[in-house]
Amino acid sequence: MRSTILSVGTELLFGQITNTNTVYLSRQLNMLGIDVMSHHTVGDNSHRLSDMIKQSFIDCDFIFTSGGLGPTQDDLTKEIACEVLHDKLVLHQPTMDWLENYFKKRGREITENNWKQAYFPLRATIFPNDRGTAPGFALEENGKTIICMPGPPAEMTHMFEHYVKPYLQKLTDNVIYYQVLRFFGIGESKLETELLDLINGQTDPTLATYAKEGECSVRVASKRNTLKEAKEAVAEMIEKVRERVGQYIYSENDEELHYVVGKKLIERNISLASAESCTGGMFAQIMTEIPGISAVFDRGLVTYSNRAKVEELGVSQDTLDCYGAVSEETAIEMAEGLRKITGCRMCVSVTGIAGPGGETPDKPVGLVYICVVYDDKKMCIESKMRNVNRSWNRNYAKLLMLDLINNMLDKE
Ligand code: ATP
Ligand code: MG
Repeated sequence: MRSTILSVGTELLFGQITNTNTVYLSRQLNMLGIDVMSHHTVGDNSHRLSDMIKQSFIDCDFIFTSGGLGPTQDDLTKEIACEVLHDKLVLHQPTMDWLENYFKKRGREITENNWKQAYFPLRATIFPNDRGTAPGFALEENGKTIICMPGPPAEMTHMFEHYVKPYLQKLTDNVIYYQVLRFFGIGESKLETELLDLINGQTDPTLATYAKEGECSVRVASKRNTLKEAKEAVAEMIEKVRERVGQYIYSENDEELHYVVGKKLIERNISLASAESCTGGMFAQIMTEIPGISAVFDRGLVTYSNRAKVEELGVSQDTLDCYGAVSEETAIEMAEGLRKITGCRMCVSVTGIAGPGGETPDKPVGLVYICVVYDDKKMCIESKMRNVNRSWNRNYAKLLMLDLINNMLDKE
């Protein structure tokens, strides 16, 4: 199945809003095994919208639109779709009743133009809008189908997930199952090289690699007649991937690294504290995103200056003078000091040079030390980060902290 995503809205052309709907739809459609051939954006203009629909149907079977379904004059998508696919708008009584009720329940006056939203092409399949007032619809003619959804992302994504996806799944006999493996500590190009024959040699399951700020993932997808078959094919392929690069995998279910770490800490009831220098609290911030982490996360200190490292953690002035704030010795004293103060079973520290300034001949930007003390174990790593920029370095240092903790937990 070949498709096009067509975004409607002048605001998009002005660059006033970011086109998140297209990103969302592309991902979703790919996962469903529907090929996305192109992305287009048009303003609220009936001629260009009409031309774009006709043009897209030349080599696609499906067009997915978002935007322009609202009650106002500039909302044209429904009218134009109806015209191009030779249908006529008729009153859809259930939607009319639902709209009436919608406004009554909220004590709001229904305006004349709202009734426009109760009219649909006669042959349309209507998708309810549980998040707003403009329902969506699918309209087909001679094997070509246009699927129109509202513009507001919360409305569009909910409608897609609950109504459009089941509609699309009914059109195909195949079932798609996929799993996303997440990796840390291996670059995308190396990962691809390790898996190249699997990526190239297979039509099903398929493997696709993705990279995101210092991390990579691989999506393993299979399209079969039954879910059981698809799951088995995916499991078999994952086993092959594991044999080659298993040591870098931290999740086989697309979970983020901090969730994986947080879950283990909570399950094993391991108390945690952090002392951060170059990451300025990013580690504590991301850990506290995890629901239920209060059961184990004690505190996160930001000890940015040398003075703070001495006063808050008991790092010795001699260590700082002799080895510098960015050194293995300081990182170790930070973690050990934190242990003394908090008594937590696991204490993590980080100190590094985020850049762009602060470099010395023997200490380049991107140099970072991370220390974890965990019960009677201690590990300190040095890493020379790629130094893309300050924000990248800080984020990567945070990931290194999580990775070190994760590895220590896995070694038990
Ligand atoms: P409404 O009933 O709100 O008018 P609509 O279906 O007519 O909905 P638009 O008027 O085109 O949709 O867009 C409404 C709002 O939705 C926009 O102001 C914008 O904030 C958001 N929006 C529209 N299209 C997109 C898109 N492609 N990506 C992200 N946000 C979008
Ligand atoms: Mg609108």
